[in-house]
Amino acid sequence: MATEKYVIALDQGTTSSRAVLINRAGRMVDCVQRPFQQIFPKPGWVEHNPQDILYSQLGSLTELLARRGLTVEDIDSIGIDNQRETTIVWDPTTGQPVYNAIVWQCRRTADLVEQLCGTPEARRMIQEKTGLLPDAYFSASKIRWILDNVPGARERAEAGELLFGTVDTWLVWVLTGGLVHATDVTNASRTMLYNIHEDCWDKDLLNLFGIPESIMPEVRRSSGSFGETSYPGVPAGIPITGVAGDQQAALFGQCCFEPGQAKNTYGTGCFMLMHTGHEARASKSNLVTTIVASAPNVEGTEYALEGSVFVAGALIQWLRDELGIVQNAADTEWMAKSVEDTGGVYIVPAFTGLGAPWWKPDARGAILGITRGTTRNHIARAALEALAYQILDLSDAMAKDAGHPLGVLNVDGGASANSFLMQFQADLLGCELRRPQNTETTSLGAAFLAGLSTGYWSGTDELRALRETDDVFRRQMDPERVDRLVTGWHEAVRRVM
Ligand code: ADP
Repeated sequence: MATEKYVIALDQGTTSSRAVLINRAGRMVDCVQRPFQQIFPKPGWVEHNPQDILYSQLGSLTELLARRGLTVEDIDSIGIDNQRETTIVWDPTTGQPVYNAIVWQCRRTADLVEQLCGTPEARRMIQEKTGLLPDAYFSASKIRWILDNVPGARERAEAGELLFGTVDTWLVWVLTGGLVHATDVTNASRTMLYNIHEDCWDKDLLNLFGIPESIMPEVRRSSGSFGETSYPGVPAGIPITGVAGDQQAALFGQCCFEPGQAKNTYGTGCFMLMHTGHEARASKSNLVTTIVASAPNVEGTEYALEGSVFVAGALIQWLRDELGIVQNAADTEWMAKSVEDTGGVYIVPAFTGLGAPWWKPDARGAILGITRGTTRNHIARAALEALAYQILDLSDAMAKDAGHPLGVLNVDGGASANSFLMQFQADLLGCELRRPQNTETTSLGAAFLAGLSTGYWSGTDELRALRETDDVFRRQMDPERVDRLVTGWHEAVRRVM
C-alpha cells in the first residue's frame, strides 16, 4: 500500500527558521520552528550569523523528520522560501562566510546608495532595468560593502574565489554539498543587479556597484530542480524543486496566478503584491515592479507590482504597549464592533513617514477628530480602519499602475484574523476579499512550487481547488458612506503632510 508522501517547506524568515510538513491536501501537518540571534552591531545595522541561519534551518528539518519518523521515501521534495535581499558572501573551498549576513533591514549602506545612485540618470537606469527604487534595502550595496570592508575580499572575489548568495542560495549551496550555486528569479529580482526584462545579471549595474559577475549565482525558475540534499545529518537524495522569496511565495501560496489577483499580508507592516501577467508595469506612485514565481508550464517571465505599508499591526502593538488602552491585539475586534463608528476619529500612523503612494518620509503621525465623547473603543476602531485605508490607497495606486482594477484581494498575516478589519477592508475596496483557512501561505507557496515541479500536484487548477473553504468578505456598506469616510481619511492624510 502506498503511504502518503509529503512536501517540506523550509521557511527561512528574519527571526526564525521553520520546517513545515505539507500534505497533498495542502494542509500543514506539522511544523518545527527555531528562532536565531539578531545581531545589532551599531544603530541601524542588522546582521545574522549565516551559520545560525543554517543550523536553525537544518535543526528544524531534522527534528521534524525525526519526530514524525520520516525517511527520504516519505518526502516528495523540498521547497524553500526565504527572507529576501539579505546578503551572504562565502568561500566555497572552506564553506565559511567571509562576513555575517547583512540583513534586508540594515541601513549601513544608505549613504553608499546615495553616492552611487544619487543622480537622476542612475535612478532612472536602476528603475528601468530592475523595477526597483534605489535603496540600501536591496542586496547590491550590501555586497559592495562586504567587498570594500572585509580585508582581501575584493581581490578574492575578482580571482573567482568567493560566492555571493541571498539566503536561498546559501541554503541550496550547503544542502547540495556545494554542488549547486543558484538562486531563483524572484530572489534575483530583489538584488538590484538583475535585469527583469532581459532576465540576466545586468553588466551596467554590476559595473556601477563594482561587483564581479563571477560571484553571482546562476538564476533558475522558481519551480524546477535545485539539486538534491547531500549534507551530513540530513537524509540524502531529497530533491529541492522550489525556491522563492517570501512575498512571492505567499502570492503563489494564495493562488494568485493571473493578472489582477493580489495578496496582502497584514503583519507588523503590510506587504501587498498584485500579479500583472507578462507585462512588467512601471509604477508612477513609488511601487516596485518585481518578478513573480510561476508554475512550470508558464512560458516566459511574469511580474507583479509590490508596495508596502510601514505601520500596520505595529499600530495595534502601540495601542497595547505604549498607550495601554488595549489588552491584546485580538481585543480590538470586539472593541471596534462595540461602537457604531469612530465618532469622527482618524489615526494616520505615519510613525516613520508616509509610504507609497504618498511618499513623505518626513511626515509624522496624528490622531485627529477627538472629542470629549471619544472612548478607547473609538480609538481601537480608528486604528483598525487606518490599516484598511492605507491598503485602499495602495491598491488604488496599484490598479492605476497595472491598468486594471483589483479583481480579488487574498489576505494573510497575523491581523487578517480580525474579522472587523477584513469586513471594513472589503467595504472600502468593493472587491471580494478572501481569507484562506490556511494562512501559512508563504510555506504553502514554497511547497506548491516544489510539488508542481515533481508532479506531486498536477497543476494550478488542482492547487486552486484546495482552497474551497475560504472566508469571503464582500462590501456591505452603502457606497455613499464609504465615500464620506474615505474623504475624511484623505483630509486627515493631507493634514499630516
Ligand atoms: P510579523 O510576521 O510581521 O511579525 P504577524 O503576521 O505575526 O507579524 O502579525 C502580527 C501583527 O498583527 C502584530 O503587529 C499584531 O499587533 C497584529 N495582530 C495580530 N492579531 C491581531 C488581531 N486579531 N487584530 C489586530 N491585529 C492583530
